[in-house]
Formats: sequence, structure tokens, C-alpha cells
Amino acid sequence: MTYVVGLTGGIGSGKTTVSDLFAELGVEVIDADIVARHVVEKGTPLLAQIVEHFGEDILNAEKELDRAKLRQMVFNNDTEKNWLNDLLHPAIRETMVKKLQESTACYLIWVVPLLIENKLTEFCDRILVVDVSPEIQLERATKRDKSKVETIRKIMATQVSREERLSYADDLIENNLPIEQGFVLIKEQVNSLHQKYLTLANKKEK
Ligand code: ATP
Repeated sequence: MTYVVGLTGGIGSGKTTVSDLFAELGVEVIDADIVARHVVEKGTPLLAQIVEHFGEDILNAEKELDRAKLRQMVFNNDTEKNWLNDLLHPAIRETMVKKLQESTACYLIWVVPLLIENKLTEFCDRILVVDVSPEIQLERATKRDKSKVETIRKIMATQVSREERLSYADDLIENNLPIEQGFVLIKEQVNSLHQKYLTLANKKEK
């Protein structure tokens, strides 16, 4: 199987910023968030089950899933959240694992926010963590999502601690500096990790 580099980090840590740089180098990127959207696209059996459970109101005017409304409905309701997770997680996992198995790339970057939480590390040859301080994480995610600080704090509380995540890291990109100062450094790290992963991937094939 293709050499798999799992890329993870907490909410707002900079995973997309980093994975975009790998993609620019021509590396295949599989993003769990994109897969999670595909499995509930218009016309999918999973969307039909969600509508059956929550009612037609869960759809927007285009008859697509209204993700914000769904988030609201499950946010403070563990029963509904568990129902949804039990429906979606196996499908997302199955789709992603199939993509990993079908890939013909030398290596690929697999972006999974909850890689550790959902015990997906077993599928990875190597783990790359994007690390930021919780204060910066809170500030960036609040700004990007136009969310309340409390909402982001709650999401952070459902994710593994910074220390635990770091204990899984084979490689680390630190993203604490403001982008104007840090971007060149991040780019250099991505370039050198790319060379390293190509070498490791070739060794795996032998
Ligand atoms: P999530 O998992 O929550 O979707 P993510 O880990 O993919 O987030 P990004 O979307 O890359 O994180 O970054 C979060 C936000 O912070 C974005 O708005 C991004 O533009 C911004 N950001 C990323 N890195 C920096 C940085 N070094 N300085 C300032 N802003 C940054």
C-alpha cells in the first residue's frame, strides 16, 4: 500500500495551510473533512437516513444538507450526536481506507483532524502534527469560524490534549508565528519533509 503520512492537529492549528503546500508540490492529499461532506451529498443513502431521522427541515433550499443546522441539533444532545456519529463514522472511515488502498501515489498526505481520537493511527506509516499553542488556536478558530470563544473551547475540550497529540508525532510543524513571519519557514519544512517522505516511501516499496 502507498506510504501514508497522517497529518493532524487541533481545530484551527493550520492543517489546511500545511496540506495545501504539499498539494502544491504535487502530493496527493486525502482530506477527511472533504470525504465527510461527500458521503452526505445530495442523493446519497446516508442523507436520506438523516432526513428520515431529523425531518426535511435539515435540508436547505437546494435540498442539500444544512450542516450548520445539523451541528446545532446535535451540539448539546449526546443521544442525537451518538446516533449521527454511529451513522457517519463507519462510512467516512470505509471511504477513506478505500482511497488509501486504491492510491498509486508514492506517498500521500491524509489530513484527519481526529486521527488520534478516532484511532486511525494504525493506517499511518508516519504522523505529522501541526502544533500551535491553545491560545493561538482559540484566537484563529474563533476568527475564522466567526464563533464564540466558548464554542471553540468546547470543541477543543472534545479533542485530545496538545501533549497527547505531540506524543504521537514523528514529525512536527510549529505554526505559532503570524503567517507573514512564519510562512517561509513552514514552506521550507514542507519541502524538506517532502524529500524525507519520498525517501521513506521508496524504502517501504523495496
Ligand atoms: P480546522 O481543522 O479547524 O478546519 P485547520 O487545522 O485546517 O483547521 P487552517 O484552516 O489551516 O487550520 O487555519 C485556521 C485559520 O487560521 C485559517 O483562517 C487560516 O487562514 C489561519 N492561519 C493558519 N496559519 C496561520 C498563521 N501562521 N498565522 C495567522 N493565521 C493563520
